Amino acid sequence: QAKAAGRNTFRFHDPAVQAAWSARAELEGSLRRALQHDEFILHYQPQLDRSGRVLGAEALLRWRLPNGKVLYPAEFIRAAEESGIIVEIGKWVLRTACAELARWQRSPDTAGLTLSVNVSARQFNQPDFVPMLQGIFEHSGVQPSGLKLELTESLVITDFTQTAHTMATLKRRGLSFSLDDFGTGYSSLAYLRKLPLDQLKIDHSFMRDVLTDQNDASIVRSIIALGDSLGLQVIAEGVETLGQRQFLSDAGCYLYQGFLYQHALSAEHFTQYARGVH
Ligand code: C2E
Ligand code: MG
Ligand code: MG
Ligand code: MG
Repeated sequence: QAKAAGRNTFRFHDPAVQAAWSARAELEGSLRRALQHDEFILHYQPQLDRSGRVLGAEALLRWRLPNGKVLYPAEFIRAAEESGIIVEIGKWVLRTACAELARWQRSPDTAGLTLSVNVSARQFNQPDFVPMLQGIFEHSGVQPSGLKLELTESLVITDFTQTAHTMATLKRRGLSFSLDDFGTGYSSLAYLRKLPLDQLKIDHSFMRDVLTDQNDASIVRSIIALGDSLGLQVIAEGVETLGQRQFLSDAGCYLYQGFLYQHALSAEHFTQYARGVH
């Protein structure tokens, strides 16, 4: 259907396909410019234990356009992954996150906090991922034991051997690992058992109706039981109500992240929150 019309230009017979293709190409160009012009920002969503103590945060990416509008990952992460720019964006995320974590570690009242960072499959499987991260550790002076990488099930299935090997190498440097969006993918229990994981993260899609939908309730209870039996921490994301938190603690899950506590905050507001100024 598509005919090459000069270098890097394609024409589609279907105008809707043409429009979608142009929009995607434009988005990719904008993502590159956003990196050059420093338009990305990280926000930090608190993670708490059952006594309400802040244990750390998850770094979440936002894109502030020159006109001031802020875009959320749903609007650009997929394009970034498909075009490969996610590798560069992901480096920026890790550099920024480690610089922030190093600041926390230099201040006694935030020194013990953990920072979780989302890493896409494409980024994690780069041959230079480990040396790249090592370079960031050295440059930022961060203690890697405060860093947790959030991986998804799709990554684990794509290349199990490579993933397990990279994880083992990084574990020796002191990092920890969380399996994000757990329950939404297809990873088998055999895989889970063989990976050096520290934490399972219950996807927020199961939390939404957990109080009214028996299936969701069963899934959440099973994930918690599975985590317990494998010796993994279990954290729930998308905790919005006291009822949901009660359900979780009755089921044996004592780590929470969600709007019940806070949305993702700017670095400055997060440190204030963690210091108890709230
Ligand atoms: P995720 O890693 O599962 O992150 C949790 C998402 O749930 C975040 O959306 C967060 O704002 C949202 N959330 C938190 N609490 C609640 C709640 O109580 N209720 C509801 N309904 N939602 C809640 P966000 O920030 O829009 O990020 C979406 C996804 O984008 C993330 O899902 C992650 O997969 C991806 N992402 C975010 N930052 C990065 C990044 O730096 N690198 C990569 N590769 N992916 C990222
Ligand atoms: Mg995550
Ligand atoms: Mg998640
Ligand atoms: Mg999710």
